Amino acid sequence: MNVAENLASIRENIEQACRKSGRDPQEVSIIAVTKYVSIETANQAIQAGIKDIGENRKEGFLEKYNELGTEATWHFIGTLQSRKVKDVIDQIDYLHSLDRLSLAKEVNKRASEKIKCFVQVNVSGEDSKHGINPEEVIPFVEKLGNYEHIEVSGLMTMAPQTENEDLLRGCFQNLRKLKEQIQNLQLPHAPCTYLSMGMSNDYSIAVEEGATHIRIGTKLVGKEF
Ligand SMILES: *Cc1c(COP(=O)(O)O)cnc(C)c1O
Repeated sequence: MNVAENLASIRENIEQACRKSGRDPQEVSIIAVTKYVSIETANQAIQAGIKDIGENRKEGFLEKYNELGTEATWHFIGTLQSRKVKDVIDQIDYLHSLDRLSLAKEVNKRASEKIKCFVQVNVSGEDSKHGINPEEVIPFVEKLGNYEHIEVSGLMTMAPQTENEDLLRGCFQNLRKLKEQIQNLQLPHAPCTYLSMGMSNDYSIAVEEGATHIRIGTKLVGKEF
């Protein structure tokens, strides 16, 4: 795995997707998902120019954070059990997996300042996926106004594992429409400017459909374990 080469080719694909859709590549942040790689490989990504790191489990997150903490912006992208919130919340810059009120309540209680959150949406409706059902997202976001330490920075989704481009595109478009509906509400706690969507196999489509944060593991840093 040559992380710098991988990054160059991902950046080219982002530029191409932006040209197609009339977007500015500067609007797209690449989050290196390092859950399957060592601290050394995560560090290589940073040396290659990556500024954002994503982890999906408390242990992996803290391990990388404790070594590389000051050198990156930290994204927690996996399901977070409420009892683990206190161990990570003050290290996290963005929480991508806010998917229930009990979690919001715990984050609010444990955080010492406002936490930037993405509300995770189960756009595809697959049982295996975490996230709020699309029709419940707006009432959920409205309720989050009760928690002073929660800011709804955006929405996040995981698309289904499929090669069907229309299905993927539809999924990303639906998330974008929801984001626009929330922005139109002009809620002070929910600027909702970001869309966290797109992974190794579907990030080009996600960028064409408006992704501001793509979460890439395998195609950027590979899989070591
Ligand atoms: C693992 C993971 C990714 C990255 O997946 P790849 O297919 O390896 O790019 C992105 N988002 C979440 C939430 C993940 O758990």
